[in-house]
Amino acid sequence: MHAVDVVIIGAGVAGLAAADTLRRQGRSCCVLEAAGWVGGRARTIQVAGAPFDLGATWLHDAARNPLAHIARAAGETLLDADSLRSRRLLIEGRPANAAEQAAYFAASAQFEALATARAARDDVALAEAVAPMQDDPWLATIETWEASQIAAADSRDFSVRDWRDNSLEGSNLWLPNGIGDFVSRALAPAAVDIRLNTPVTRIAWGRDVQVQTPSGTVVAQSCIVTVSTGVLASGAIIFDPPLPAATQAAIAGLPMGLLSKVALTGNWPDRLGLPESCSIRMQVPARFAPAMSFHCWPLGAPYIAGFVGGPTAWALSAGGPAMAQDFVRNRFTAMLGADAARGITDIILSDWGADPLHRGAYAYARHGHAGARATLGAPLSDGRLIFAGEATRTDGLAGTVGGAWLAGQDAAAVAA
Ligand SMILES: Cc1cc2nc3c(=O)[nH]c(=O)nc-3n(C[C@H](O)[C@H](O)[C@H](O)COP(=O)(O)OP(=O)(O)OC[C@H]3O[C@@H](n4cnc5c(N)ncnc54)[C@H](O)[C@@H]3O)c2cc1C
Repeated sequence: MHAVDVVIIGAGVAGLAAADTLRRQGRSCCVLEAAGWVGGRARTIQVAGAPFDLGATWLHDAARNPLAHIARAAGETLLDADSLRSRRLLIEGRPANAAEQAAYFAASAQFEALATARAARDDVALAEAVAPMQDDPWLATIETWEASQIAAADSRDFSVRDWRDNSLEGSNLWLPNGIGDFVSRALAPAAVDIRLNTPVTRIAWGRDVQVQTPSGTVVAQSCIVTVSTGVLASGAIIFDPPLPAATQAAIAGLPMGLLSKVALTGNWPDRLGLPESCSIRMQVPARFAPAMSFHCWPLGAPYIAGFVGGPTAWALSAGGPAMAQDFVRNRFTAMLGADAARGITDIILSDWGADPLHRGAYAYARHGHAGARATLGAPLSDGRLIFAGEATRTDGLAGTVGGAWLAGQDAAAVAA
């Protein structure tokens, strides 16, 4: 048995923020992490000698993102992704002309107006809210972007209010060595007593808190749980007594969306004639059709990053790596041509859906459940048990590393 003031489950961004806050307040704590590394969904690997973020890539909403301020204060290089990035919009493999681009922007404005107006009235699915424009040839493209790629969600299930409440604004920043690198190098040292390879299996939260792991039990006055809603829904951690019905309903109302990132390397002597940090999207032929976007040579890196989200990402996760590689190759050929596809030498896939420690990329609220984030984040039993993590954020930063950091800080303040 080991006793601390607060025990924190998970050494992702939220867990590290909670530990840092408690340390500053002079409270004892320990962080129990199932994986053999810190950072959770902020993880950088090397691809062809350059950093590649498997998970979080940008610091969104920079003006109010706490990690942007921390990184700046620590002297990290921060680059404005929006000014460095160029965008290409394709229709069946050819660039959209000026009139087609104008139609796309007009459709985007209509999409936003329809969804915003509907969110003010009721909490239907995003797909239903934008149905009045279903004859618009750009609806499928915008819907794929807003639901599957940004929110990682299925628009037929995704709350229009949750879409509105978490539509990120402002600029997006890049950390040239990757967000995962920054988290493990700059944020983790501030959190003391992190125990890796220590999966939590049971949390008893009666009079005190007893947290069971294969290597022993930790006793604390309070417990902060930062694991994803996918892990919570899986039953991998048993709560004793069981969680209140409202908390269980909130977890069910916040399923994990899936965004899978891939990195493609190849023999492309002239880099396919595409500029550095060039984002490519193609018109999606029909609503809910499988789609992908590519991001060529991000910050000059020698690979092309690809993104596939929502139901398509879940289908590929279920189908396995061979099916996912075929899909990526097929989409790449459609967008960049057969010659470019012949040059591919490797396709590196991330699959957060199959990872039992995450079970998805980030949570979205189901239609009718826009209030679930607040319910899940409400402390239980006078602060003895507190759920933190990206899913609990209600200030518009849900699903982000900035939101996870603030959630961890707030939970620590309650626990302290
Ligand atoms: C592909 C992808 C792209 C993304 N892009 C962006 C982006 O560009 N910008 C952005 O801001 N955000 C992005 N995100 C979201 C961002 O990564 C997350 O919101 C954030 O990292 C979540 O942090 P967290 O601390 O809440 O959860 P996590 O990082 O999941 O931390 C929870 C920790 O709990 C651990 N754990 C699980 N089960 C147990 C157990 N039983 N016992 C002990 N430990 C356990 C996990 O291993 C994990 O380390 C992206 C995510 C993905 C997957």
